Amino acid sequence: MRKYDKKTNELELAVCNCCGKQLLIENGVLKEGICSVDVTWGYFSKKDTSIHHFDLCEECYDKLTAQFAVPVKEEEETEVGWTSL
Ligand SMILES: [Zn+2]
Repeated sequence: MRKYDKKTNELELAVCNCCGKQLLIENGVLKEGICSVDVTWGYFSKKDTSIHHFDLCEECYDKLTAQFAVPVKEEEETEVGWTSL
């Protein structure tokens, strides 16, 4: 769960939806790893075009992906940018 300041649009709060941990933010910049998921469920899903958002801290992400039958596909990012969230 992410909360942005209405005036400045700066990130002011980021909470892991799984464990409730509050992630560290300094001057609107997230200082920890986060897995931000935004899903738009399509017509053929049972959720009929509803949009879901959630965020996971790195620990919860690791726990979740450790249960996958098929492992996460990993690639190296050549350039780590500010806007790569
Ligand atoms: Zn967590």
